[in-house]
Amino acid sequence: VEARNGVAVRIFGMKQDITEEKLLADKTRYLAETDVMTGLANRSQFQTRLGNLAVAPIGGLLLVDLDGFKQINDSFGHALGDQCLREAARRLTACCDQASLLARIGGDEFAVLMGPKQTESEISALGDRIVKAVGQPYEHNGHAIALSASVGVACHRRGTADDLFHDADTALYAAKAAGRNTSRTHKH
Ligand code: GH3
Ligand code: MG
Repeated sequence: VEARNGVAVRIFGMKQDITEEKLLADKTRYLAETDVMTGLANRSQFQTRLGNLAVAPIGGLLLVDLDGFKQINDSFGHALGDQCLREAARRLTACCDQASLLARIGGDEFAVLMGPKQTESEISALGDRIVKAVGQPYEHNGHAIALSASVGVACHRRGTADDLFHDADTALYAAKAAGRNTSRTHKH
């Protein structure tokens, strides 16, 4: 402000358009946190949330792994395999509206984090709903491709993020061993 005799006579200012920088920053963040193929959170975002367990409590973790997915790739090709992964992501999104995070953490492996308000039986029941939702044939060009998943569920009471992940992974292994297309919950 330029003043004369204590009275403002002129005012100067500068305006800068930061639209480009803002868009670039948003895009960079999106790419760093997102699995681009499915649009879900990526492994890095999942691990950050899981590692933050002491500050932002977690009620449970569900690990979802597609069944016989190598065979889908081998029979129908990698491109159709990718479409099946996107379809699985859509089905998970539709049935996990209570989740605090839904991520693709590996090739055909997904993770669902539940908040601390969910009860153990609600979290366990979600495992069964996921099996039902993902385990529907996927119609493509007149073919019905058999899609299904196994789920390992672990509820968090105490212990580290690594313990929680290990418990869910053990339960997932049990679901696979029980013949797949099913959910198992880790018993403490
Ligand atoms: P299981 O029932 O034991 O889970 O058997 P699986 O055949 O699903 O075996 P597994 O989960 O170990 O292997 C996952 C396969 O997913 C391996 C790899 O060929 C495939 N895969 C990993 N990433 C991608 C991807 O981005 N696109 C496609 N199309 N396939 C992928
Ligand atoms: Mg698999």
